[in-house]
Amino acid sequence: MDKIQIKGLKVFAHHGVYPEESAQGQDFFVSVCLDVDTRLAGLRDDLAQSVDYGELCLFIDRYMKKHTYKLLESVTENLAREILLRYPAADSVEVSVSKPHAPIPLPFEDVSVTVKRAWHEAYIAFGSNLGDREEYIRKGLETLEHETDVFLLRTSSIIETAPYGGVEMGPFLNGVVKVKTLLTPYELLKLCNRIEGEAGRERTVHWGPRTLDLDILFYDKLILEDEYLTIPHIDLKNRDFVLEPMAEVAPGMVHPVYGKTMSDLLAELRGKV
Ligand code: ADP
Ligand code: MG
Repeated sequence: MDKIQIKGLKVFAHHGVYPEESAQGQDFFVSVCLDVDTRLAGLRDDLAQSVDYGELCLFIDRYMKKHTYKLLESVTENLAREILLRYPAADSVEVSVSKPHAPIPLPFEDVSVTVKRAWHEAYIAFGSNLGDREEYIRKGLETLEHETDVFLLRTSSIIETAPYGGVEMGPFLNGVVKVKTLLTPYELLKLCNRIEGEAGRERTVHWGPRTLDLDILFYDKLILEDEYLTIPHIDLKNRDFVLEPMAEVAPGMVHPVYGKTMSDLLAELRGKV
């Protein structure tokens, strides 16, 4: 990936744990490396196709002066997030903030914190089989969309399906949504659980009726298995009601464990291959 880099931008600001630091302020040095495709800008010699690094420097200066954080970690974390939200053309950013006059009672050259943050692509399955199912789904997706760190990229058609898992209950409405997010998988799960809670979801019977179920299907090409999360979703290849909408929004996407596309997994489940 192409890069746009700013090294050692000097900003006078007021971050620090000690009251003197926030009162008096000191010099900080900010370095930023943006992963951004510069091909079109380069070929057309057109700034509109790229990131204006002059404007970015002014933005960093304004942001650093406007906020006061105790920790360099917070300055760096928040700055990285703000840059990714402001420049959607950037897939990821590395931000380093240093504080050469930090109050350390020993001689030292510099101290800094560096973070790398990125947009991630995730697929979330939604399902409802209790009450006003359309409304629970509509409201859930709306809440997801209103999260600053989540963008909805595509939503599948909503299909009606028979219940799954052997518990007697009413039919489901199911679908999937593709999102772009700055959240980690655990933060995304927490958000999904919060939205389920806001839909009045009660966890009583496993695989029982629910007002809203939100499951993370994929998160980039990540393979993860622990007590809280299994990604890709563990039962995906057996669920027609997940594979059908996945095959609609991302037919050619390859499952990182099985190495098969969504269309192939659906065809296989339906016994067509
Ligand atoms: P199910 O979706 O299987 O019907 P629940 O919605 O009640 O069941 O989820 C049970 C637990 O599954 C959650 O508390 C969550 O920690 C865990 N879980 C594991 N992997 C995932 C995933 N990929 N997406 C959502 N929840 C998951
Ligand atoms: Mg679930």
